[in-house]
Amino acid sequence: SLSQRLSSTVQRLRGRGRLTEDNIREALREVRVALLEADVALPVVQALVERIKVRAIGQEVLKSLTPGQALIKVVRDELTKLMGSAADELNLNVPAPAVILMAGLQGAGKTTTVGKLAKLLKERRKKKVMVVSCDVYRPAAIKQLETLAQQVDVLFFPSSTGQAPVDIAKAAVSEARKQFVDVLLVDTAGRLAIDPAMMDEIKKLHAGLDPVETLFVVDSMTGQDAATTARAFADALPLTGVVLTKTDGDARGGAALSVRYVTGRPIKFIGTAEKMDGLDVFHPDRVASRILDMGDVLSLVEEVERKVDKDKAAKLAEKVVKGKKFDLNDMHDQLEQMLNMGGLTTLLDKLPGIGAIPEKLKSQVNDKEIHRSIAIIRSMTKKERRHPTLLNGSRRARIARGSGTSPADVNKLMKQYQQMEKMMSKMSGGGLKGMMRGMKG
Ligand code: GDP
Ligand code: MG
Repeated sequence: SLSQRLSSTVQRLRGRGRLTEDNIREALREVRVALLEADVALPVVQALVERIKVRAIGQEVLKSLTPGQALIKVVRDELTKLMGSAADELNLNVPAPAVILMAGLQGAGKTTTVGKLAKLLKERRKKKVMVVSCDVYRPAAIKQLETLAQQVDVLFFPSSTGQAPVDIAKAAVSEARKQFVDVLLVDTAGRLAIDPAMMDEIKKLHAGLDPVETLFVVDSMTGQDAATTARAFADALPLTGVVLTKTDGDARGGAALSVRYVTGRPIKFIGTAEKMDGLDVFHPDRVASRILDMGDVLSLVEEVERKVDKDKAAKLAEKVVKGKKFDLNDMHDQLEQMLNMGGLTTLLDKLPGIGAIPEKLKSQVNDKEIHRSIAIIRSMTKKERRHPTLLNGSRRARIARGSGTSPADVNKLMKQYQQMEKMMSKMSGGGLKGMMRGMKG
C-alpha cells in the first residue's frame, strides 16, 4: 500500500543518513506513482504532489521524530482537503418545490440515483417527493424511473417520448406545486459520450427550471475519463454537486479526487450498490484512507497470527507472493479458517480497501453461509477446484445437487470466489505480500 511504501521509503532514505529535502523528493515520487496507480488524472496528481511537497519539505516532516508517519499524515490531509473537508448536504432551502436536476452521461447512474435520492429524502428527511423523466429518447428509460418510483413509493409524473424535455419539466413543476411536493427530482437523458446536442438540452433544462441543486452523476469506474466528462459538464452547467456512482466496483478511489478537483464542486453522495439504499453521504477522509490503504492491517495480522493455521496461511502467502492464481481450494481453506476466526465479516472489516467490497456481499458471508460454501466446494472435483472456469451451468447444477444446495447458491459462491480472487490478485502487488511474509516467520 501507499502508506507502507512511504514509510519504508522514508526509512530506507534515513538509513543513508540524515533525512533531507532530496530524500523527501524521492518519497514524493512514490506518492506520484501511487496516485497515478489509483487512476487519478495527471493534472490532479501534479497539483496534489506540489501541495504535499510544500508541506513535506517544511519543518513538519523533516524535523519529525517519525518522518514516515509525518509524511503519510501530510499526504492524507492533502487528499482529504482536495476532496472537500466535510460531507455536504443537499440544499433544500427554497420555496417548494425544490428542484434537483440530474446531469451526466448515459449509464452513469442518473435514473438509479434519482430513485435512491427520492428514497433518502422521503425517509430520512421526511420530504414529499416527486420524480419526472425527461429522457424522451428511450421509452424504457421513462418506464425504469416509473418502476423505481413505485418501488420507493414516491410520486411519479408521467412523460412520453415526443414531448420536449423543457415542457415536461415545467409541467412537472406546476403539478408538484399543486400537490404540495417538497422536492422534485428531474431525471434527464444522457449520451454515451460528450455531445453538443446533449449539452444544449441540459442547459435549456437548467435555464427553464432554475434548480436549487444541479447534480453531476458520474461512474467512478470510468477513472480518468471521469475527469474529462466532469470538466465538460462543469463548463456547461453551474453544478452544485457531484454524485459518484458504482464505488462498490472501484477499489482505487481516483475518480473522487479527479472529479472534485476538476469541477471544484463537492461530492455529495456516492453510490455503493445497485439497490435503492445503496447511496451514502460522501466522506472525503474515508476515500483518502482508502487511497492510502490504511485499513487496520496491524490488528488483522495479529488476529490472523493468533488463529490461523500457519502452514496453510504460509502456503497461501506463497501463492499470493508468487502471483499464482487463487483457486477454490484456497477459498476452501480460507473459509475453514474464517470459521476459526469468528467469521469473515470481522476479518473483512479490518482489511484495507474494504470500501470496495459491497455491503451485500459482506452480509452474505455469515457463518451459516460459510458452512454452505464449504459444502459446495467439497462437492466439486479436484479439477474443478483448481480450474473454476470449468464450472458451467450443468456442472453447477450437479454440484448444487451434491451439496444439497441450489444452483443460485452455487452461483453466489462463484461470485464470492471471483470477488476474493480479484482482491487477492490486487493484493499480490501490494499490502498482503509483506503481511503474509511477516506471518511465515
Ligand atoms: P443512467 O443512464 O445514467 O440513467 O444510468 P442508470 O441509472 O440506468 O444506471 C446504469 C446501470 O448502473 C444500471 O444497471 C444501474 O443498476 C447501475 N448502477 C447505478 N448506480 C450504481 C451503483 O452505485 N452501484 C452499482 N453496482 N451499480 C449501479
Ligand atoms: Mg437514465
